[in-house]
Amino acid sequence: MRLQVLILDKAYRQIQREVNRHPDAETGGIMVGLRAPDALIVTDVSGPGPDAIHQPFSIRFDEKYCERKARQLERRGKHLRYIGDWHSHPFSKLKPSKVDKQSFSFKAMNHYRTPTPLMIIAGPGPLIPLQAFILTNKIINVPPTLIDQATLRQYKTKAIST
Ligand SMILES: [Zn+2]
Repeated sequence: MRLQVLILDKAYRQIQREVNRHPDAETGGIMVGLRAPDALIVTDVSGPGPDAIHQPFSIRFDEKYCERKARQLERRGKHLRYIGDWHSHPFSKLKPSKVDKQSFSFKAMNHYRTPTPLMIIAGPGPLIPLQAFILTNKIINVPPTLIDQATLRQYKTKAIST
């Protein structure tokens, strides 16, 4: 079944704030959310941490901060898992670079706690468009949809824990 990618409006606002804080360099962070049979739902995101290295065409996360943040956000609710990372492309297409693909596959093996990891790439302001990529046996591009708290509540009843 084709998975939808749903992003809670609050999580999108967090991404917008972080992108606006770094208009001239890449930024990013972790994403925590739920998995339902037909959807991946992003409920919370973080920034990259205080020791992250922001460059115009790359971002290196403060990995210690990101791991700690992922565990902290997972504890906020049943079924919440570290499902992937997001980052911005202020100056390049909203497609994973070669390095993005390598780090996505690598982190899928030993960082993300889901069988179907997600990568979100955010474009520059003022619009800050998003593109989503799911890693199955290959990387598939899925247009994400924003949802509100009421829709999230419906999905919570369908959440899968692994
Ligand atoms: Zn990238």
